[in-house]
Amino acid sequence: MDLMGLFTGVTQGISAYKTAVETLDEAKVAAATNELQVQLTHLGAEVIAMQKESLQAAERERATLRAKNELEDRVRELETRISERARYELVDAFMGAFVYRLKEASADGEPMHYVCQTCLDNKAVKSVIQRHAAAGSDAYCPTCKTTFHLNWFRQK
Ligand SMILES: [Zn+2]
Repeated sequence: MDLMGLFTGVTQGISAYKTAVETLDEAKVAAATNELQVQLTHLGAEVIAMQKESLQAAERERATLRAKNELEDRVRELETRISERARYELVDAFMGAFVYRLKEASADGEPMHYVCQTCLDNKAVKSVIQRHAAAGSDAYCPTCKTTFHLNWFRQK
């Protein structure tokens, strides 16, 4: 039953109760009291249901807001990643050893360096390739431990 119907029922119950009291007939007063209690019980149940719906709607709204904030954070993170990635270009540093090299135009005061293509593309980790003198290699990625034979002394 809708709320207006319940209010009408209670109003009618009160009216019937007043009429019964005026008759001084105990049976009529008891019947009117009983009917009024039934109407008030229905009204109370309806109010509780409305409160529950209101709480559920508020919870849905909070969940939606949380999801929206998480998506905004994710978009910002991806935008940062894209703009950072755009500072580099894929180069064949030495006979098929592909790495990302900082573009000179994007250096912004940073020294020229290489970053690991696998780490940047697959893990979103900017791992600067470091010198690593060992047999068969002269550089390595400190994150994924891939070794490279970049021979960067011959690059220039
Ligand atoms: Zn790596």
